[in-house]
Amino acid sequence: MLYGFDFISPETPLHFPLFKEKNVEVFLKRDDLIHPYISGNKWRKLKHVLTQAQAHSKTKLVTFGGAWSNHLLATAAAGAQFHFETVGFIRGDRVSNPVLSLCALYGMKLHFVSRESYRDKKRLFDDHFANTNSFFIDEGGYSAEAALGCEDIVGELENSYDHIILASGTGATTAGLLNGVTKYGSHAMVHSVPVLKGGGFIQDKVAALATSTTRLHLHTGYHFGGYAKIKPELVDFIRQFVASTGIMIEPTYTGKMLYALFDLIENDFFKKDTRILAVHTGGLTGFLGMHHLFDK
Ligand SMILES: *Cc1c(COP(=O)(O)O)cnc(C)c1O
Repeated sequence: MLYGFDFISPETPLHFPLFKEKNVEVFLKRDDLIHPYISGNKWRKLKHVLTQAQAHSKTKLVTFGGAWSNHLLATAAAGAQFHFETVGFIRGDRVSNPVLSLCALYGMKLHFVSRESYRDKKRLFDDHFANTNSFFIDEGGYSAEAALGCEDIVGELENSYDHIILASGTGATTAGLLNGVTKYGSHAMVHSVPVLKGGGFIQDKVAALATSTTRLHLHTGYHFGGYAKIKPELVDFIRQFVASTGIMIEPTYTGKMLYALFDLIENDFFKKDTRILAVHTGGLTGFLGMHHLFDK
């Protein structure tokens, strides 16, 4: 069992003049408050994976990510808390940054591998960890277990919503929300904002894990040039949002998602009198890699 994670993240109302003007109510599901580093959707995505690893008496978690990966850090911290050894394969040349230092602090062994060998993750795992007591976790934690954990976001809700909006990378969290909407009888549409360029590919990745995608709406126009790319208007938006709410967001995921939400509201995408839930999926260490872009 995974003890110490029975925290239900709050649904906080957001107050902006724009919302009043357009007659919409907006709440934020504060999954960023679940844990500083086993953050947001990464905790939800790991939960059943860790239970499964425990059930199979595995002692080591092996996973994959880029040098700023929220998933790597979440796995490192969760591994330490639930008594697994952890190994992270990191794409590209050896670098040093605060996220990797935190991973190492939590006891994760870091292996830097070329982009070429990174591509074949199963092979990396088999070459180094076959016939050991190790458990494979895919990049970003993408799996059916990950989607299952994210259903709880809907299960926990106190209010009913017409729309739920979130940022997406692999699509596992989006699939979990869709399944949760079905499971808990919500009528909400699920609005997924891919943070990568050409985010249409998410449709298939979501469909692979979701029982139905009829309630899915993809908004592919808010990538700002691609993964971890930004533009001045995004920086300005994040600055204003954080300073006026006291709620931290970052440029890679939650900043783009909330920018999209404000833009959609501004352009009357949502009908009057609708209630919208935005999911704060956490991942705030992403800011540390881009802090210089916020210096004036
Ligand atoms: C990983 C991550 C996502 C993307 O989740 P997927 O399930 O891969 O779509 C969204 N937001 C944050 C903050 C993340 O760290």
